[in-house]
Parts: sequence; structure tokens; C-alpha cells
Amino acid sequence: MGYRKNVRALRGSPDFANRSRYWAVFVHGCFWHQHPGCPRATIPTRNRAFWEAKFAANRDRDARATSALRRKGFRVVTVWECQVADAPAVKSRLSKLLKSGGVDVR
Ligand SMILES: [Zn+2]
Repeated sequence: MGYRKNVRALRGSPDFANRSRYWAVFVHGCFWHQHPGCPRATIPTRNRAFWEAKFAANRDRDARATSALRRKGFRVVTVWECQVADAPAVKSRLSKLLKSGGVDVR
């Protein structure tokens, strides 16, 4: 299998990546990264302003990491925590995206 986990050498430390085949996958927690429209992406009512600022910073960092990698020619996929339970759907999304790179997604 041609990938590494937690690739710190790349912007945003993708959870999985292959630097020679130029793909990167982020697996994001729905709460911490505020998955849009997801029931897990709640905002705590206590200290709401703090959480909103924190989540905004996380989203911003995610967006900058993704665009930095794309500018370098990487194909970038974000998989959400709530989607990981649906393994076949994740597998088909990833294999579709990474097919040209010859990646065997298990
Ligand atoms: Zn989610």
C-alpha cells in the first residue's frame, strides 16, 4: 500500500497521503471541524463565543491546508467521521478520486 499516515511534512498534516502520487486524505471529526449540516456538529451553548471562534479557526486552517496542497498539485479528499461508518461509500469516493493515481483503497 502506497501511503503514509499523519504526514507532518505536508501542510495540515493529512491523515493519509502519498507524496509521490500527489494525493492526500483528511479524516475530520465532525464536532471539531464542524461538518456542515451534520448532527454531530453542535456548538456548545456554554462559552458559545469561545467555541465559535475556535471552530472558525479550525475551518480556516482546514481550508488553507487544502488550498495549499491543491496549489502544489495534490488531489485532496476530506472524509468526515460520520461517513467512516459507511465504509463502502467512503471506499468508492476515495477510489474514484484516486483512481488515476493507481491507489488501492481498502
Ligand atoms: Zn458529520
